[in-house]
Amino acid sequence: EKKHLSDIAIAQAADIKHINSIAAKIGLSEDDLEHYGKYKAKLPLRLINQAKIEKSNLILVTAMTPTPAGEGKTTTSIGLTEGLNKIGKKTIVVLREPSLGPVFGIKGGAAGGGYSQVIPMEDINLHFTGDFSAIEKANNLLSALLDNNIQSRSNNLNIDPRTIAWKRVMDMNDRALRQITIGLGGTANGIPREDGFNITPASEVMAILCMAVSFADLKKRLGDIFVGYTFDKQPVFARDLKAENAMAILLKDAIQPNLVQTLEGNPAIIHGGPFANIAQGTNTIIATKMGLSLADYVVTEAGFGADLGAEKFLDIKCVSAGLKPKAVVLVATIRALRHHGGAKPEEYNTPSVERVEKGFANLAKHIENIKKFGISPLVTINAFPSDTEEEVKFIQQHCEAMGVQAVVADGWADGGAGMTNLAEALVKVVEADESNFKPLYDWKSPIREKIETIAKEIYGADKVDFSKKAQLQMNKMEKLGFGEFPICMAKTQKSLSDNEFLRGRPTNFDVGVREFEFAAGAGFIIPILGQMMRMPGLPAVPASEGMSIDDDGVISGLS
Ligand code: ADP
Ligand code: MG
Repeated sequence: EKKHLSDIAIAQAADIKHINSIAAKIGLSEDDLEHYGKYKAKLPLRLINQAKIEKSNLILVTAMTPTPAGEGKTTTSIGLTEGLNKIGKKTIVVLREPSLGPVFGIKGGAAGGGYSQVIPMEDINLHFTGDFSAIEKANNLLSALLDNNIQSRSNNLNIDPRTIAWKRVMDMNDRALRQITIGLGGTANGIPREDGFNITPASEVMAILCMAVSFADLKKRLGDIFVGYTFDKQPVFARDLKAENAMAILLKDAIQPNLVQTLEGNPAIIHGGPFANIAQGTNTIIATKMGLSLADYVVTEAGFGADLGAEKFLDIKCVSAGLKPKAVVLVATIRALRHHGGAKPEEYNTPSVERVEKGFANLAKHIENIKKFGISPLVTINAFPSDTEEEVKFIQQHCEAMGVQAVVADGWADGGAGMTNLAEALVKVVEADESNFKPLYDWKSPIREKIETIAKEIYGADKVDFSKKAQLQMNKMEKLGFGEFPICMAKTQKSLSDNEFLRGRPTNFDVGVREFEFAAGAGFIIPILGQMMRMPGLPAVPASEGMSIDDDGVISGLS
């Protein structure tokens, strides 16, 4: 009956250990840590060790095209870490920090689920160590400097307020702030202009923190943020406002990764949380390197399905940071296969080999895609109670026909004990040492060619249509010197194509690039393939209504 407990009830019942004893497991003393209370600590950057990074094993957890519920990448990453530690492999899970928007909105937190969670769950899902607040402040400092320059310095940079691309941010789902007018109230109160708020994970400051490899690199990238154009159509950067040092000051602690623990007392590093739709969607490079410096295995997750998360992880993050993953774990669920085989949401729990057979085309395409990076994935079937043996058999046989193994994993219900099979299969893959990572495209190729490669090879598109606007923007970006940036696709996560309604493995379709954005500091170009949300709204009945806190501070209803 333990399976009926809520995530928060399981987390609160855990035998949580002092962070010093977690640190001891990875050879750190209490003096190595910057303590944030008893259960959280920051890890100073001097603990990063390049020689050790090269000897450690980086494991990426990604997924097939998900249903709206999510197929369990975080849960699998945490469970696999428990399983690997159980079979004697020194392993750290490295994950993103949750955003408050989804916590109080609809999706819930992002600290795993069931018996595969990171704790203290409430802290991780709420203010944690303040990184999101620091990012918000650094972002908004740049906004304030910008508006102040236009007002008080008589606009000495000649900024055209109508071209400002930089927005303010806040970590809450608040659609009323998407488009606002600022500077109203007369001459003392600024120059009126249109502005708006994005949610904090959509800030370029977040993307930069996650791409930075050092404090110096962070500062340089902050200075490179593009804010808008002058009246003479020249680009204006944060460095023109002399903003980068002040912004970096606000991020001096946020740049250090956070150490916490899993339910079974294994180390977890949680750091950074960029959006997976308009940014790279993975934890900081610094956190990944920290994990590799302190353990023999690092298990990490990239947001959304493999067409977005894994592609960006491999082509942007790994290339930028010089990382070479040893294995990719591809999470599949039988409900997602049924979904791609035509099941409606109310039929997700209805067994159907026919639907699984039809839906398998989606998983097969993701397997083929991972192989294009020189890595043969290990498929894991994240177990749900409605799964049947026939459905599991079908998947295993068809994976085997493609030369990959599919292992059933039960970390949600059983923690590490439910994940030792997967852990053992993974160790075999790593020890066979057959992974030969290579990115899909060369950063130096023309922008158009890079986009076409991703769209054709990964999505399965026939061709890419560029709007007039997109073509002009491509020329402009190449003139500005951004032509060698990698591509950070902004596409729906609900389909391999750019049409969210096409399930399975779509064929005979084109994708359209409507327009571009670029993140000059983070260092990537963002083709916009659909409507992209940067400030979500709350649902009619937000998750917040089901939450409570008692007089002793014990929280319930957080999920
Ligand atoms: P992702 O990281 O892919 O978005 P999560 O690991 O956060 O997915 O899981 C999404 C939701 O599904 C969470 O609420 C989690 O508790 C739940 N979940 C994951 N795996 C299982 C499972 N095997 N059985 C039941 N619920 C699960
Ligand atoms: Mg997740």
